[in-house]
Amino acid sequence: MPERLAICPGSFDPLTNGHETIIRRGLALFDRVIVAVTFNPRKTPFFSVEARKQMVRDVFPDEPRLEVDELNGLLARWASDKGAACILRGLRAPSDFEYELQMAQMNRHLHPQLDTVFLASEADGSYVSSSLVREVFVLGGDVSDLVPAPVLAAMKARS
Ligand code: ADP
Repeated sequence: MPERLAICPGSFDPLTNGHETIIRRGLALFDRVIVAVTFNPRKTPFFSVEARKQMVRDVFPDEPRLEVDELNGLLARWASDKGAACILRGLRAPSDFEYELQMAQMNRHLHPQLDTVFLASEADGSYVSSSLVREVFVLGGDVSDLVPAPVLAAMKARS
């Protein structure tokens, strides 16, 4: 059987509990998962790409089937060059779906062998987004139940 590789792309700024479960569930479905940390030049990042990559490694310290990389170019080409079977994304709410559907169709248009797999967020995690976590944290709110412990430590160290 050929190896089944999934690419899990996102900003992960920072990695939340919602991201962690999607990656964990991806590892249960695929032989290997590459978390692709994206750099968006239009957004001012909270954490550098290197810091975001390190957080993923810290949350999954003993997982040889997980890799972390940086993605700057076109996701579909990058994923295809890596020999990925699919792109793995989480769906939190119907509002995610409109954008995700367009992306999945575009990526398949560009690379027809590339599929997108969507995992529904956990029932208690759908309200968790990186931007909201950042906002609450900056305003002094408690986000300790929303992000993994190494991420919370990095957030506290940054401020
Ligand atoms: P992007 O900047 O591309 O939206 P994110 O880092 O926000 O990337 O999210 C990466 C992926 O994780 C997306 O598929 C997103 O829908 C999913 N995701 C984000 N938060 C959650 C959550 N709380 N539960 C499940 N999936 C989530």
